[in-house]
Amino acid sequence: MDGTPRFLAQSFEQHFGPASALRVFRAPGRVNLIGEHTDYNLGFVMPMALDLACFTVIAPAPDRVLRVYSMNLEQEGSWPLDAIPSAQPSRDWGDYVLGVARELQLAGYGVPAANLLVWSTVPVGSGLSSSAAIEVAVAAALLGGRSIEPLELAKLCRRAENNFVGMPCGIMDQYIAVFGREGAAVKIDCRSLDHEVVKLPAQAEFLAINTMVKHELGSSAYRHRVAECAAAVEVIRKTHPQVQSLRDVTSAMLASLADQLPPVPAKRARHVVTEDERVEAFVEASRQGDLRRMGELLVASHRSLQHDYEVSCEELDFLVDTAISLPGVYGARMTGGGFGGCTVNMVQPEHALRFQAAISEAYQKRFGLTPEIYPCRPSAGVGEVTAL
Ligand code: ADP
Ligand code: MG
Repeated sequence: MDGTPRFLAQSFEQHFGPASALRVFRAPGRVNLIGEHTDYNLGFVMPMALDLACFTVIAPAPDRVLRVYSMNLEQEGSWPLDAIPSAQPSRDWGDYVLGVARELQLAGYGVPAANLLVWSTVPVGSGLSSSAAIEVAVAAALLGGRSIEPLELAKLCRRAENNFVGMPCGIMDQYIAVFGREGAAVKIDCRSLDHEVVKLPAQAEFLAINTMVKHELGSSAYRHRVAECAAAVEVIRKTHPQVQSLRDVTSAMLASLADQLPPVPAKRARHVVTEDERVEAFVEASRQGDLRRMGELLVASHRSLQHDYEVSCEELDFLVDTAISLPGVYGARMTGGGFGGCTVNMVQPEHALRFQAAISEAYQKRFGLTPEIYPCRPSAGVGEVTAL
């Protein structure tokens, strides 16, 4: 039996004291294979849920208080239930928890008095979405099996991040934490909120490599890009009033507007429009087992993020450039918001071990940091862990 739940139950009792009626819920992190910075532009993304996940252990509490202990941070937060609706963010990790509790209450799901323990194997702040994993795992624990539409759950957690944490993220991370599929990636249409399960060719392995850096610029640049995309849409709407988001824009439209769009919004829009095209092409290549084409699309995505969207950094570029110079590598690109975090690498299985050793050594030599490497095994979305 997987020892995880027992270890979690023991940790819970160590922290909160003896408890009965413990339940454990799990929500995964994700790696986005392609379709970056397209979700808040209502375009396409193609993540897979990982077997790295956030676990929450929950037990009822006798007082009217919600208490949460993060084993990763060794910190506890507690909030009287009655204070949750009027709570203000405190700009720390508790906002992810409180934001979810608040959205649950606002949506009419009562939040129980409870003790929660959180333990995540998703590297925190590395672009593999530890934030959506904690949001969705906490929401599932607080719901405790009460019925909710999966899409409602994803939207509710996104609102927590948008409205309480203050991060204007799109729907991708919460969506895949809910809808993840074992053994497959998921192509999401961020406008219709439909998805398609995409089996990946067996002859390729995906590996995420962590730069181990997170540049401060990241979250302000993210907000800035969201605003720049909205500004581009405003200009485009003067000629094409039907356009609601960059999702509605085509490359041909952009070309015809070359003298109206200022250079920076034009570059941002070009990234988003071509990235949506690349997601579709990637799915097609994946269906046909065209591994080389898939790899080329990953690299094209990286170049677009590097030069047009300008959200890469020296460490990410180094990892991508090094990866594609090594034998057995189809392609690589940064994944997640950028300015640090991880790359995703598509590698021939028989080269995977040598590849890991070589890239790790090169990165160490260049930056003095040992990159963590995570094999990406597509896993299921949120659920209760039953073997306790
Ligand atoms: P990413 O989602 O790429 O990991 P974010 O910056 O979006 O990075 O989210 C990271 C933040 O989420 C952390 O700084 C912390 O506030 C919160 N978080 C994630 N996992 C945990 C955890 N296990 N315990 C406490 N806080 C967590
Ligand atoms: Mg996040």
